[in-house]
Amino acid sequence: MKIFVVNAGSSSLKYQLIDMDNEQVLAKGICERIGTSGVISHKTPDGRVYKAETPMPTHSEAFEAVVYAMVESDAKVIDSFDEVSAIGHRIVQGGSIFKESCLVTEKVIEDISALGAMAPLHNPAHVLAIRACIKTFGDKIPQVVVFDTSFHQTMPDYVYMYGLPYEYYEKYGVRRYGAHGTSHRFVSARLAELCGKDKKDLKMITCHLGNGCSISAVKDGVCYDTSMGFTPLDGFMMGTRCGGLDPSVVTFLAEKEGLTPAEINEICNKKSGLLGISGFSNDSRDIEEAAANGDKRAILARDMQYYQILKYIGAYIAAMDGVDAIAFTGGIGENNPRLRQWICDSLSYLGIKIDSKINEAHGKEVELSTADSKVKVFVVPTNEELAIARDTLAIISK
Ligand code: ADP
Repeated sequence: MKIFVVNAGSSSLKYQLIDMDNEQVLAKGICERIGTSGVISHKTPDGRVYKAETPMPTHSEAFEAVVYAMVESDAKVIDSFDEVSAIGHRIVQGGSIFKESCLVTEKVIEDISALGAMAPLHNPAHVLAIRACIKTFGDKIPQVVVFDTSFHQTMPDYVYMYGLPYEYYEKYGVRRYGAHGTSHRFVSARLAELCGKDKKDLKMITCHLGNGCSISAVKDGVCYDTSMGFTPLDGFMMGTRCGGLDPSVVTFLAEKEGLTPAEINEICNKKSGLLGISGFSNDSRDIEEAAANGDKRAILARDMQYYQILKYIGAYIAAMDGVDAIAFTGGIGENNPRLRQWICDSLSYLGIKIDSKINEAHGKEVELSTADSKVKVFVVPTNEELAIARDTLAIISK
């Protein structure tokens, strides 16, 4: 059975076709510049590539280009889209409405659209993509939506509320929702398997460290707390996002620099973090290299990010009254041995010990902790697309 996984943005559309009989990727690709020009880049695991510039005024034409790539191009992998059993969409914001993945209905589309105020860059694009799928594939192929926020819906109210007047929660739903939930769910489930325990019997901390970064505390098999908040801007410093700040900084800068809310948003989301501090890159590889060569601002950016990650882990150990297992995932978590070593060395008072040689590993699932470590530490590569495909399969099989 084949599942088509879609991750749509306003001008881009990433996709994978996954064969669920063996959970192998059959093809993956990206359509970019939707709405302006249009380009598709499509690849298969056996190395075939299809790239083309083709007009994509809307997501519908992007899906038509994907169908061509999959069914007719030199990198084709299926004879017809009829072979595809279902489509699974990644949805960034599910608010308090969506506690789990579900089948797409008109009401579901309307609810995702209504949540757009809390994810203006993402939810409207997801709705466009779902409607475009209906237009391109008809209603013969069932569609499922999988939310970045739903894993975090188990947080207790005293965890997700902000200390603001209660009316803003009632009027606008202002609270912590978290993000990267599909990744935290996938990684925590795998971490429990690797520990050989039922996830309900473990206190786990999952560190998703990529361009966007978040950390979750997972207790009794469900999310207890997570670092991202009302939007994916909260938490700690990321590639281009500032993470948590004293809110007064926002009003202070708005006044001093005469900035509009949109401009402040742009600064906090796109010009801050590793990029804002270093002045030259949001990519941790560049930061590590420049820091190793003595660049002072790169050293500062690196040290700030490490320290802030450590503080979140420490806070979650306190919040759960302990930790049994920690997982590192995401581009940085899977590939940055220096960061992992520093974090684990800084937690040595807990009896955490990792094997420095094994820790040199890049991008693969591996146990870092030594036999006498009191806490298990693993690298668990995340696979959000597979998690979406598994949910999609489970829902259409009901
Ligand atoms: P996104 O959040 O956009 O999905 P990723 O999870 O791909 O991002 O993470 C991007 C980050 O991971 C970048 O800071 C990059 O430096 C880092 N990264 C990715 N691959 C490697 C690698 N092989 N070695 C070191 N860092 C890496």
